[in-house]
Amino acid sequence: MSTLKELRKAQAAALDDKNLYANRIRVYPRSVHGIARNVKWGILGFCLALYYAMPWLRWDRGVGQPGQAVLLDLPHRRFYFFDVEFWPQDIYYLTGALILGAVTLFLVTSLAGRVWCGYTCPQTVWTDLFMWVERRIEGDRNERMKRDQGPMSFAKAWRKVAKHGAWLFIAFWTGGAWIMYYTDAPTITVDFWTGAAPGPVYIFTFLFTATTYVFAGWAREQLCTYMCPWPRFQASMLDEQSVIVTYQGWRGEPRGHGKRDAGAGTPGAAKLGDCIDCNACVHVCPTGIDIRDGSQLECLNCGLCIDACNEVMVKTGRPKWLITWDSLDRQKAKAQGRVERFHLLRPRTMIYVGVLVAAVSAMGVALARRPHVDLSVQHDRAPLFVASRDGSLRNGYTIKISNKTQAPVDFTLDVSGVADVRMEVAEGTAARAERLVLPVEADAIGTYRVLVYGRPEHLQDGTQEVDFVLRSGTTGEATTYRSVFMGPGATNGKP
Ligand code: SF4
Ligand code: SF4
Repeated sequence: MSTLKELRKAQAAALDDKNLYANRIRVYPRSVHGIARNVKWGILGFCLALYYAMPWLRWDRGVGQPGQAVLLDLPHRRFYFFDVEFWPQDIYYLTGALILGAVTLFLVTSLAGRVWCGYTCPQTVWTDLFMWVERRIEGDRNERMKRDQGPMSFAKAWRKVAKHGAWLFIAFWTGGAWIMYYTDAPTITVDFWTGAAPGPVYIFTFLFTATTYVFAGWAREQLCTYMCPWPRFQASMLDEQSVIVTYQGWRGEPRGHGKRDAGAGTPGAAKLGDCIDCNACVHVCPTGIDIRDGSQLECLNCGLCIDACNEVMVKTGRPKWLITWDSLDRQKAKAQGRVERFHLLRPRTMIYVGVLVAAVSAMGVALARRPHVDLSVQHDRAPLFVASRDGSLRNGYTIKISNKTQAPVDFTLDVSGVADVRMEVAEGTAARAERLVLPVEADAIGTYRVLVYGRPEHLQDGTQEVDFVLRSGTTGEATTYRSVFMGPGATNGKP
């Protein structure tokens, strides 16, 4: 009986007893070899190598700039991703990236079921790693079950201690690596071990260590079944043409242990199908389900049951792929002796592809045309204007210039929209001029208070829209900010 069946039986019994709690029935997945397992090992190795190595990858951005390829620099509010640097104003790229990720997930799920869950989800990757460690120390399924059911012994105790020690070690490196994405990896490693790192670094390392240990070591399939919302969503993305892990009941049933031709020639006796009811597919399943019961919420589409069944089919001299990747439509057709092809291009997948192409194009264009300078202009709230002795009107503005390049830049600032204006930097020493030169350090925001002088006779109805035009002295890249210039007659600051 599958573990899940046992659990459901226990839950039903608990309900009968009016006791709403049923103990978890532990899953003891056994090792397996085959194509799905090899693909899972490959993806697991790639994901872990990427995760642990990425913070150590260096990237030259010039003097005084962070040398880490991927860095989320929270104190300075920057996200560095190789050559691209994101500022807080670029938050919409994050929105775009999330939309891209979500639509890609929808597309992949509608094509191939929960392959994300089965192969690449961090919960799956780390659980797989923890299970591998467990098997190395405590042995395979039967050995673990036997020892767990037996009394405590030295052999059992040291294995348990070694396993949990190894899990904690991996969890610690996982939590530590996460911290390295937020600060320079070599520096924080030294600081961490010399006790010089800030308190939050130790707190967050502990938190991430604890969550990795609990989720991958203890919670395992329960997190996927009870805590993760994705299995609930994914049902709406699947249809009869989605390729999922499927037991070919038309070929396997009626299942049984006996000789395959036992029923042949015996009236009323059914000839047995290819399934020998060995339960190997159940014993390798990381969520403890029986795929022969049909498509289930708990199934991760990992395909390990396919590998297990293929091993059995080879040993018993039967064709492989009794459990296989297939669509429900094709299975129905096969059961009726028909041949049905895969339908990858369907309205649902075409819509996802369309949205994906549009989102990728929009993101690509936005990134390519991403400005390296930002300008913000804030008019003084009070006073709105000041009349000077020479008859001119003076308006004050706070100008903020974001220099997103890795070098200092001298920016020029012009004002258009009102004739005959002059400007000066408040508390500066330079004389009033038609154009200001405002230097800003590399990768920094320069803030200036600028006073603009204009003649009242050039204003219509006491106020006038003006454009502040900022131009990089290095690249010539320009940006404009619209504001207002006010005089007598202006009431609430609106034109
Ligand atoms: S039933 Fe098969 S595909 Fe589904 S989770 Fe279990 S082993 Fe993986
Ligand atoms: S592994 Fe194959 S033969 Fe064995 S119980 Fe599962 S489906 Fe049947």
